[in-house]
Amino acid sequence: MNVPVPLRSLTLRSPENYRGVLPLLPPKSWRVVPSPPVPPSGTTASDDFTAEGLLEQLGSLHTHRQPGSKAASRHQPLSLLWAISRISADRPRLTPWALFRAEVGPLLAEFGLPGSKVTPEYPFWHLRGSGLWELHGIDREAGSAPGVGALDSTQPVAGLTHTSAELLRDPLIRLQAVIKLCGTYFDGVDQRELLDRVGLAGYATADGLIDGDEDSDDQEGTAATERATGPAARRPRTFSELVRDPAIAREVKELHGHGCQVCGKRLQYKRRPYSEAAHIRGLGKPHNGPDELPNLLCLCPNHHVLFDGLEIYVDVNGMVRNTHGGGSVEQLRRHNGHRIDEAHLDYHRALCELNRVTRS
Ligand SMILES: [Zn+2]
Repeated sequence: MNVPVPLRSLTLRSPENYRGVLPLLPPKSWRVVPSPPVPPSGTTASDDFTAEGLLEQLGSLHTHRQPGSKAASRHQPLSLLWAISRISADRPRLTPWALFRAEVGPLLAEFGLPGSKVTPEYPFWHLRGSGLWELHGIDREAGSAPGVGALDSTQPVAGLTHTSAELLRDPLIRLQAVIKLCGTYFDGVDQRELLDRVGLAGYATADGLIDGDEDSDDQEGTAATERATGPAARRPRTFSELVRDPAIAREVKELHGHGCQVCGKRLQYKRRPYSEAAHIRGLGKPHNGPDELPNLLCLCPNHHVLFDGLEIYVDVNGMVRNTHGGGSVEQLRRHNGHRIDEAHLDYHRALCELNRVTRS
């Protein structure tokens, strides 16, 4: 139980991580393919490129439209979601054409506009026009798109620019980027399925655990055990094990006298007070929240489930609201000895927004 949280160190980018990227970087002799002019409203991917600029670019991609169709092609946004999930997983930002084709091709087939062709070579090349994407290793004029044959024989690498990738390493910016793409380009798509397939399924809940719906008997068993015994090791099915610090969980409960910070109820269980310590920003990937007091709430089991399930959030004024409909529930109860980091509440709110966007 006192094992230190093992995952946090993995989220830092290490020299190993950089060495993992090195083989993908072009040799010096490779010419960087010039990018076409950046859209007028946009900012170039330079040092002053900000999160706002990034989100604006994501929302105004120059997507192809089929004749007679109002819907924008989903090739570029799908490729970007895929690229963002690579950042989330600490995979190298640049990928060789063969890997891009193998991984993005099936996404285009499954989530592209009905009737659209599966042409991963288009976003691989044309995303350069977004100002967020770069391509190395093919000698060609910027205007003429290479065909599959040329890409296969030269195997160029492409991916998010260094600046975009660095911005997207911030979990909140990454989450906002996912919301922007989902909300702008994927009307009528099963977006939860999409996020799952792209590798961003962890955003479906606040604790990063994937809810298995009907087939989650084993997980419910784990959760029930945890609730009965207080804070304990979590064993999610698809994520590395996380171990919480029982001392800070106890501290937040004692500070609030086991009263739920949402409804104020104090439960008794086996003749003892019972409450739960909830992380505002989940510990595991993709959230990477810290295991510390400002990232905890003391909640009753009902509100813990609703909070983790993104059904309730705390607004900027400290009012607890329903994610769907926005109705107020209660004012969050605070304690002077328990400072809450507002950045974590921001993050949780953004997750709830994604949850709202992807369920509508
Ligand atoms: Zn409650």
